[in-house]
Amino acid sequence: MTLPFNVFPLNYMSMKKINIMGYTQPQLEELMLTLGQKAYKGGQVYNWLYKVRQYDFNKMTDLTKEVRQRLDKDYVFDLLELEKELVSQDGTRKFLFRLSDGNPVETVLIPGGDRTTACISVQSGCALGCRFCATGSMGLLCDLTPGEIVGQLLGLRERFGSDVFTNVVMMGMGEPLLNLDNVLKALDIITDETGLCVGARKVTISTSGINPGIRKLADLGLKSRLALSLHAATQEKREQLMPVARSYDLDSLMETLRYYTRKTKSRVTIEYILFKGFNDSMEDVKALTRLLQGIPCKINILAYNPVEGLDFIRPTDEEVDAFARKLYPRLPAVMVRKSRGTDVNAACGQLAAQRQMRRN
Ligand code: SAH
Ligand code: SF4
Repeated sequence: MTLPFNVFPLNYMSMKKINIMGYTQPQLEELMLTLGQKAYKGGQVYNWLYKVRQYDFNKMTDLTKEVRQRLDKDYVFDLLELEKELVSQDGTRKFLFRLSDGNPVETVLIPGGDRTTACISVQSGCALGCRFCATGSMGLLCDLTPGEIVGQLLGLRERFGSDVFTNVVMMGMGEPLLNLDNVLKALDIITDETGLCVGARKVTISTSGINPGIRKLADLGLKSRLALSLHAATQEKREQLMPVARSYDLDSLMETLRYYTRKTKSRVTIEYILFKGFNDSMEDVKALTRLLQGIPCKINILAYNPVEGLDFIRPTDEEVDAFARKLYPRLPAVMVRKSRGTDVNAACGQLAAQRQMRRN
């Protein structure tokens, strides 16, 4: 089902103004000081932006009229435009947003028993070109700003109410650790009690394995969860799937994961997409077991979600279960993740990539 509508009309007239969406609390406090106000006023604006979702300065009633006018003159709320919404038979909803520069951004809402997960993007497209990923085929169009990352979640709350999601995963388009400054600012707003107030442990950052970024998260003492897209247990196979593996090889990646788990005292989630006939043999089970020995982790096995034009083969649910069963006695916490929203192309980047192909 396709429901084209706009929740947020873009304000084309105000392009020259500065976008205030995505400002962190310290930034807003700074701004208030420059307007001759007390710093705590920044906290009030923060509350309006992220809790109340008030996108009209003139209605920010605890600011003086003069401050409201100054803000209105220089700042704008650059919000995402919703271009398309698809609803899957299993209840998964996929959204295609558009940035003010026209670049596409995908967000997915995945309901499940006791939780609903919002899967958000951190870039439009991705530079890393993983062979199985629709986003990878688009190349990098742009980094998302903190406001555009948070804006996806605000858009969902605007449309469905404040408790629409319980968990957030950065598993949409793009590589979080290659847009790290913006991702960290967004994370701050998402997990802040006076921001979007999502518990830090309910937010997951997923990476294809960018060592310097993982080390930085470790040094910062990341409170949120980290997932690594591993997908292959040997250097040779991983390189075939993910060109980024040439820059950060498996040995150094595992070393980095050890560092991360030691520093943060937390487990890392290993994502392993199963491709039939490629990484699903007993040899692969053994290689994976050897590789992950001694790394505090849990492992998610999931079936490849077919992307038009690609030759990989999706295994059946039974084959995925069988692979997980072989792994289970050898490694801790092996879970099978069911694909969701396959009928609406909910896999990373599929919708936007299709749209781009049509345009081309
Ligand atoms: N760039 C980050 C996060 C975005 S991708 C990363 O790679 O981890 C989010 C997840 O979607 C990754 O685990 C990625 O491997 C997976 N993914 C991409 N294309 C897929 C497909 N066709 N089928 C199943 N999973 C896919
Ligand atoms: Fe980029 Fe992640 Fe897709 Fe690889 S899987 S191309 S890193 S978005």
